[in-house]
Amino acid sequence: MSIKYDIIIIGSGPAGFSCAMQSAKFNKSVLMVEADPDNLGGTWINTGTVPSKALRETARNIYTYTSQFGKYENKKPYERFKMRDLLKYKDRVLENENSSIKKDLIKNNVHTARGYGKIIEPNLVEITDLLGETRKVKADFILIATGSRPTKPKSFNIDHKVVFDANSILNLDHIPRRLVIVGGSIQALEFATIFAALGTNVTVLNEEGEYLPFLDPEIREEFDRIIYQMRISINNNVEIQGVNNNKLRNCTEVRYTKSSDNGELKVIETEVVLHFGKRTPNTEGIGLENAGIELDDHSFIKVNERYQTTCDSIYACGDVIGFPALASASFTQGRLASCDMFDIPSKDTSPNIPFGIYTIPEIAAIGLTEEEAMNAGYKVTVGRTKYDRLTKADISKSRDGLLKLVFESDTFRLLGIHIIGDNATEMIHLGQAVLYYGGDIRYFIGNVINYPTYTEAYRIAAFNGVNKVYKSGVGYDRILE
Ligand SMILES: Cc1cc2nc3c(=O)[nH]c(=O)nc-3n(C[C@H](O)[C@H](O)[C@H](O)COP(=O)(O)OP(=O)(O)OC[C@H]3O[C@@H](n4cnc5c(N)ncnc54)[C@H](O)[C@@H]3O)c2cc1C
Repeated sequence: MSIKYDIIIIGSGPAGFSCAMQSAKFNKSVLMVEADPDNLGGTWINTGTVPSKALRETARNIYTYTSQFGKYENKKPYERFKMRDLLKYKDRVLENENSSIKKDLIKNNVHTARGYGKIIEPNLVEITDLLGETRKVKADFILIATGSRPTKPKSFNIDHKVVFDANSILNLDHIPRRLVIVGGSIQALEFATIFAALGTNVTVLNEEGEYLPFLDPEIREEFDRIIYQMRISINNNVEIQGVNNNKLRNCTEVRYTKSSDNGELKVIETEVVLHFGKRTPNTEGIGLENAGIELDDHSFIKVNERYQTTCDSIYACGDVIGFPALASASFTQGRLASCDMFDIPSKDTSPNIPFGIYTIPEIAAIGLTEEEAMNAGYKVTVGRTKYDRLTKADISKSRDGLLKLVFESDTFRLLGIHIIGDNATEMIHLGQAVLYYGGDIRYFIGNVINYPTYTEAYRIAAFNGVNKVYKSGVGYDRILE
């Protein structure tokens, strides 16, 4: 136990990685402990964010090609494309990402230890390696960034052959003809559109009353229309009774009831089932009790606004602290935790964080919805444009989409941006910058925007918004002053 580090980080996902990099840039000695014997990067690189987006990219390309040129030899994508080729593409991306994270850690002199990390005291971590050997390491600070894992379903088992979860779905060896997804989360809907784009017949059984309840109602309406076109069927308020193999009919059966149908038992036949329930934070067995670290009512680690736990020398970031449980937010949290530990002032981060949903097409938003803005007492006007008004969308044949700007009628100050359509997750960041600096929607009219682009939607929506203000009796001299 001779070495003492400035910081030990348990977990190498985005929260741990960004904290390690920031701490190294502050010239601190950093040890990162990772339980996975093969890979660094956690759910972010190995089982969640990156692999699902790599598969999505291939599915979207196939979908776009099919929409632009029609079906090739009248074949469905699953008759033409092999899952192994799609997964090969994903594997290449994972290899690159894994190698790049390793290079970054080495270049910045971050030490790594393969093994299971457990807190023994507020400044002491025990690492158990694959062979069961243990060693103890000291540090001034500890960051818990152990992430989360899929929660097991209550009424059926995941066998990883026919019934999959988030960790195993990317081991599928073929594109299924029929897929039932149990869950209504962001990732459940992302996978629903990925497989529908590959020609799979997809049914979503959502145990909640609504899916993505935080969406702006107009964006949801557009999404409903799009998924209807993709033949995805979504059932809300469902209770799964069980999943079983029907040997006679050579299929898998999902049995469920729906509260609106008086509890009548329904059976749906499928080839593959994918479960996407809530995620369980990885907080057991890591010694929280040895440092007096408390959990909140939902079993997430309690932290203050600086990501410090109830033990002064220990911080926690990422999925273990709950909402928003995104790689994007985890990167920022890890960096801010490092700034706080080492007393380096960091520029304030806006409480307004964007979300990006990688369905096909994408959804993204930041700031207030129209309803939230009105409830907050603003006098609100909305400027919107459908994607079918955009030359770029016409050229790309992806005319499904909508961009909506919510702004204060008197000042034109931007309050929220809501987008569904191709490139939404990229485009949101232009609105985010204007929002952050307290700008107004006339920015999108006064500045030249490349043409043809999807970003042009901002200009058209801004014109739509100012025209509404004009029609309410405000002169153009005042509008464009
Ligand atoms: C299918 C899917 C798609 C997603 N898509 C997106 C997306 O598009 N955009 C987005 O922003 N987010 C996305 N997410 C969410 C994102 O992946 C997570 O929010 C993010 O990875 C959480 O980061 P983390 O650092 O908290 O933990 P993780 O990335 O889960 O990493 C935790 C690491 O800690 C290690 N560990 C655990 N316990 C120990 C221990 N005791 N000792 C040592 N090591 C330990 C684990 O092995 C793991 O490597 C997606 C998630 C899933 C499942």
